[in-house]
Amino acid sequence: MLRLHGALTEAAGQLEALSTDLRSRTGAAEAAVFEAQALFLHDPALLAPIEAAILEDGLQAELAIDVVFEDTTSTLETLEDSEIRARAADLRDVQQRLIAILSGDAPPTPGTLVRDTIVVAPDLLPSETAGLASDMVRGIVLAGGAPAAHVAILARGLGIPLVVGAGDTVLQVAPGRETLLDGSTGLVLVEPDEVERTRYLSSPPPPIAAPGPSASRLETGDGRRVRLFANVGSRAEAELALRNGAEGIGLLRTEFLLATLASSHGAVPGEDALAAAYGEIYETMAGLPVVVRAMDAGGDKPLPFLDFGQEANPALGWRGIRVLLDQPDLFAAQTRALFQAAAIHDTDIRLMLPLISNLDEFRRAREIVEQVRQEAGSTLQHQFRLGVMVEVPAAALTADALAREAEFFSIGTNDLAQYTLACDRGNPRVAQLYQVLHPAVLRLIEMSVRAAHAMGRTAAVCGEAAADPDVVPLLIGLGVDELSVGAAKLPAVRQLVRSLDYVELRPRAAEALTLATADEVRALLAR
Ligand code: PEP
Ligand code: MG
Repeated sequence: MLRLHGALTEAAGQLEALSTDLRSRTGAAEAAVFEAQALFLHDPALLAPIEAAILEDGLQAELAIDVVFEDTTSTLETLEDSEIRARAADLRDVQQRLIAILSGDAPPTPGTLVRDTIVVAPDLLPSETAGLASDMVRGIVLAGGAPAAHVAILARGLGIPLVVGAGDTVLQVAPGRETLLDGSTGLVLVEPDEVERTRYLSSPPPPIAAPGPSASRLETGDGRRVRLFANVGSRAEAELALRNGAEGIGLLRTEFLLATLASSHGAVPGEDALAAAYGEIYETMAGLPVVVRAMDAGGDKPLPFLDFGQEANPALGWRGIRVLLDQPDLFAAQTRALFQAAAIHDTDIRLMLPLISNLDEFRRAREIVEQVRQEAGSTLQHQFRLGVMVEVPAAALTADALAREAEFFSIGTNDLAQYTLACDRGNPRVAQLYQVLHPAVLRLIEMSVRAAHAMGRTAAVCGEAAADPDVVPLLIGLGVDELSVGAAKLPAVRQLVRSLDYVELRPRAAEALTLATADEVRALLAR
């Protein structure tokens, strides 16, 4: 038992050193892989049976670890879910580390590599990947593996192109043979001929698309594509979103960034500080789309550098787009910061406007944004999209007019329900009236989605409803294209969407629109 606990302590120390090293070399997302592995060392679901096997069955620590880890890992490895399989790889990694410590071996390393090596392996464990020196390794080809595996996060963090699922034949490539690899397309060419060499080596490789670790294509059980994005308000949340496989950020709550900057700078954050904060998010998301919401201050989100005065009804008062249009210099400065960050990070820009209640507001805001864009110049070659948050019933009811000019919709169900039901979203006394499943709210969502689709626009939902298991089936049935949810909720929502059947949900959602109460909708769904 003493040996077991000695090994657990030693493993915890090694993992901490590894994550500290990775944090400085690559970033928090990569370090988090090993922080998560360290949690296994305290997990009673593993430790209790290991201790029992040692104490009651008289097994040696090594054998007890092997038996218990194998049992758990082999069950997880049979499951389809790519995240669960990634956890299995982590368990195997921890198992190997503990066994190495108990047998006095050095921590696992990939051995000696020569410069410009392409590593070919059946699969790699996270610590094997982290041990690869990125100045020696030009690429990794795995016969197995999955885009969701932690090897993908780590390879990306280390800047190493990776191809997974190349099949067993790749293992027959003899060492030393020249191989071409393109991580963005999955191309692996062994001993390319002259034509191929010229073709691939003369033009610079396309930038690596850098999908999130679990950012695999999400579909309902019957194959309807649903994009899964994350709502974030800080870099740490963006890192979690990436770890949890977001396809991008669907709602960056910039007022949270502004509040943090204001509290550290004590005043209105300057353009450069704000650009740096946006830049951190772009950098974290490494080329994945980021939908930035223009500052949504007021109502339940006061900001220290704005004077809201006394308002009898803050939710109906000076907030969202109204503040931005009344303070065009502030809005322009924030928009300039966004274009500055986008230029530095060479990325497309998606900006959305909060609390739009009529087309005129959208047009006035677009004018300010367009002027900044023209002045910024350097970002003109990047795709720019300006969208609208549908969170006021008036916007949903005139969604057809808005969709002609706004390039995408993101339905903010938190506010849409509040304003439709005349029900303060934060007041517990009226919480029982706050029902997103109320047919009134559902009809407004449906109108918005239909209007968006009629103009070829996408309709996302970024309110809490997008992660609510009671509401998601209806949103999918209503044809919502994208869900944007809290970063921690991504895995559960992904699993839920996979279990749904779009063809079956469509008529149910249509029927829900004809019902009178949220209870009736619930009963319909339970049927
Ligand atoms: C919403 O209203 O649904 C929304 C996403 O915006 P917020 O919650 O930030 O008001
Ligand atoms: Mg809102």
